[in-house]
Amino acid sequence: LYTEPIPKCYIGVGNNPELIESILTSAGYERQTERTDDFKLKWVQCNSSINWNVFKDGEQLVNHIQGEDYFTTKIQLWQSLQSYEKITLAANRRPNYFLPLNEFVPETYKLDEKNDRDAFFNIHKPGDVWICKPSGLNQGKGIYLVRDIDNLKSKFAEIDAMDKKKQVALKPMKRVIQRYIMNPLLVHGKKFDIRCFMLVSSVKPLIALYHKGYLRLSMFDFDANDGNLLTHLTNQYMQKKDPKYYDLKEDTSWTMEQFNDYINEHILPNKNIEKDWVLNVLPKIIQRIMLNIIDSIRMRLKRRVGCFGLYGYDFMIDEEMKVWLIEVNVNPALATNTNTLLQAIPPVVQESILLSIECFEKIRHNQRIFPLRSIKGFR
Ligand code: ADP
Ligand code: MG
Ligand code: MG
Ligand code: MG
Repeated sequence: LYTEPIPKCYIGVGNNPELIESILTSAGYERQTERTDDFKLKWVQCNSSINWNVFKDGEQLVNHIQGEDYFTTKIQLWQSLQSYEKITLAANRRPNYFLPLNEFVPETYKLDEKNDRDAFFNIHKPGDVWICKPSGLNQGKGIYLVRDIDNLKSKFAEIDAMDKKKQVALKPMKRVIQRYIMNPLLVHGKKFDIRCFMLVSSVKPLIALYHKGYLRLSMFDFDANDGNLLTHLTNQYMQKKDPKYYDLKEDTSWTMEQFNDYINEHILPNKNIEKDWVLNVLPKIIQRIMLNIIDSIRMRLKRRVGCFGLYGYDFMIDEEMKVWLIEVNVNPALATNTNTLLQAIPPVVQESILLSIECFEKIRHNQRIFPLRSIKGFR
């Protein structure tokens, strides 16, 4: 007599749409190729391809949250964290998980405005190494190490001498400069960073979940003075630029279990850390940092039922086992081109999508979902 219409999803191109399609197909969705605003769920790389004016709260799902730029571009993340710290330190009560910025973010300056640049030039000491990054790019694009400040100074002197119009046209100059971590913890002599995930699902109430992610390693032995950028930037995209990648690609990503075994065997004997530090202690540190980030932007997220976001966090660990936040990404890479990625990525994406649909349906049916005070792991 009656069959429910099959829910339609629109999936944008790029970043493993096949994976999204297979997950949504098993959840009963059908992929539509027309780019209409008439979808049940939309999954796209970039929030600018969503027409927010016609998005129907509580009827549609989309994998972005309005306001996410406040923590997923490098300048805005830094600004959000700074103003949150200022407000929190001034208040007489603060959450017990509060962390001062200098305990988890390498010292950072904006470079787009002259007074920020001057603040940086004033504290810079000869011999310092900094890393300069475009605010809105990814995959290591446009990043360079700054060992010689004079180059940078003259570049900016040139810009300051231009008229205002020309300066505005140089928008790609929107950059941050960050103290370079000179003493990264190494595995088999290689630098690495951690890519882990945070799902913000159901913005009403806001629920954030954490997934442990995986390790991304350089193919080259670390030496702080090495001139090869691929020694310093651990993004897969960067490593791919070297022909060695095709022989070594399986070594450029590790599971957290593999990392845990390595730390137990090679690092634990010389450091004051507990056994299985990677699986038991590291997630707590990372979740605490995530909570600070959520608090710094939660007022800025537009809470519309049906919006969810899967964010990729980059962390580094130094020789003292200190954990540093490097950045947060919208549209994290979902490629599964190594065995580790094939193990790590699909479950995260599947859980993210299914949980988001589940929360959405519960809210629509006025069922209670639990607003989590702390970040919980994916099931
Ligand atoms: P992108 O958006 O291009 O990935 P990131 O900020 O993540 O930019 O930087 C790319 C890579 O550079 C990181 O994965 C890490 O390996 C390295 N890196 C970034 N910031 C620092 C830093 N402050 N100290 C040491 N290495 C860093
Ligand atoms: Mg990035
Ligand atoms: Mg990155
Ligand atoms: Mg980014």
